[in-house]
Amino acid sequence: YDLSARRRGRRGAAVESLLCALTGAEAALVVNNNAAAGFLLLSALAAGRGVAISRGELVEIGGGFRVPDILARSGARLVEVGTTNKTRPADYAAALDAGEAQVLLRVHPSNFRVVGFTQAVSLPELGALARGRGVPLFCDLGSAAPGSPELAGAVAWADVCCFSGDKLLGGPQAGILLGKAEPLGRLRADPLFRALRPGKLALAALEATLLDWRDGTAVPVSAMLSAPPEELRRRAEALAEALSPLHPCTAVETAGEVGGGARPGESLPAWAAALEPAEALEAHLRAWRVPILGRIHRGKLLLDVRTLLPGDEAEIAAALAAWREERA
Ligand SMILES: *Cc1c(COP(=O)(O)O)cnc(C)c1O
Repeated sequence: YDLSARRRGRRGAAVESLLCALTGAEAALVVNNNAAAGFLLLSALAAGRGVAISRGELVEIGGGFRVPDILARSGARLVEVGTTNKTRPADYAAALDAGEAQVLLRVHPSNFRVVGFTQAVSLPELGALARGRGVPLFCDLGSAAPGSPELAGAVAWADVCCFSGDKLLGGPQAGILLGKAEPLGRLRADPLFRALRPGKLALAALEATLLDWRDGTAVPVSAMLSAPPEELRRRAEALAEALSPLHPCTAVETAGEVGGGARPGESLPAWAAALEPAEALEAHLRAWRVPILGRIHRGKLLLDVRTLLPGDEAEIAAALAAWREERA
């Protein structure tokens, strides 16, 4: 309900204004997921046009979502530029000069890394080229969090950018589109948007997550990812100490990874409680009333404390007490 207009409000309006306030974008729109966001973006704003994209960004996201296929489905024409490992501003410029491309697209290669003899065009370089030639720049960030330089850069340079609601943002499954008011207005007016808009439960969950970002309340995924190693060490030692009366347990330093292939090749300094016998305990904990998932490394079962929530320690202790009783 729109309080000031005294009539039914537009679904999504609250979330859109929060997104604009958090990111500085002129306008925002939310759809079911980021795959839908990318498809809507290309269908509504690039159909029938040539879209220049680096050969290093023709990726497949999980679940068989392939950038070239989605581009073809949207009615846009794929114009590959550069090579797998090296793409320069001149490669995009050549595609524009030849009249092959009328749109520039940047897709974040979320789940793989090219290392070695590589070169990529920065977003400001690409944005400056788009502005200089008067063509739109679209950017699929994959994942983004408010306040990050990547998101600020995309809002500053891209006409429209999009990212997932359930990756670094830590909210529900959703696709978030941010950008200039004019192209966002066209996306909202496109019939495809009606088919891709999220339900009110997803919008309510997204609003709650965005309010946490706005108010500086810890969003769980963000707090877990940024937990300092020193704090993790203290928590692992406390857990090991709490479990020791029930079962031999030590705190060990280890390495963790961000799940879902979101940060390929990156490891996080981590701390865990280590237990033995690894295989049998792993099975026991996994079958526990609240399944407890550890990782077996060098013959030990490691319970990484990074993803534990308050109260989880007591559940682990209960599972180990049951293990001990079964063997008494
Ligand atoms: C994850 C990802 C998508 C798909 O996002 P969903 O919200 O899972 O649909 C699309 N593009 C990129 C670059 C991604 O990383």
